[in-house]
Amino acid sequence: MNALARPGKIVAIGRNYVEHAAELGNPVPKQPLLFLKPPSSVIGDGDAIVLPPESKQVEHEGEIGVVIGRRLHRASEAEVRDAIAGITCVNDVTARDLQRSDEQWTRAKGFDTFCPIGPRLVPIDPDLLQQLELRCRVNGTERQHGHARDMVFGITSLVSYVSQVMTLEPGDLIATGTPAGVGRLQPGDIVEVEIPEVGVLKNRVVAAS
Ligand code: ZN
Repeated sequence: MNALARPGKIVAIGRNYVEHAAELGNPVPKQPLLFLKPPSSVIGDGDAIVLPPESKQVEHEGEIGVVIGRRLHRASEAEVRDAIAGITCVNDVTARDLQRSDEQWTRAKGFDTFCPIGPRLVPIDPDLLQQLELRCRVNGTERQHGHARDMVFGITSLVSYVSQVMTLEPGDLIATGTPAGVGRLQPGDIVEVEIPEVGVLKNRVVAAS
């Protein structure tokens, strides 16, 4: 099961790294901060991120993505460990100006092409989840470098928390939050998200035609 299908739902986590919360002037949440991205925002490795005309500040957010392999409803962390199909790279593309002006994040996070995932789904030993690291580069320059061990809420804890709210189904994707270093994307940029165990998710940025 290494192919990535379009997820039934994408649950993303806000402000899950202390330094990223600080760079946007936000407090660290006391509980995981959940939001949804629509499945229609998903693109794959090599597809183009399209900058919508409504925003003047679209930013990259490289993240570790967790794909669910088994139905989870109010699951314990132990149950979560047995239910993770694998990991992949995610870019939680965000229109930062609209995120601020709208006060909630549906539009800012939900445009078509705003959820690149890939390049593949890789099974993982649950014991290794907290050792994962992630890099994000724009035009070859490193912008973000984060470690799962620095998350405010760890991966199995996050998935357990989400499952208290909504049943997670096979194929659902959890985007586990972005480390510090988010920044603006311009037409012509090449943005890469890399997790060594997974590979590189690479997308070019284009203006809306
Ligand atoms: Zn994010």
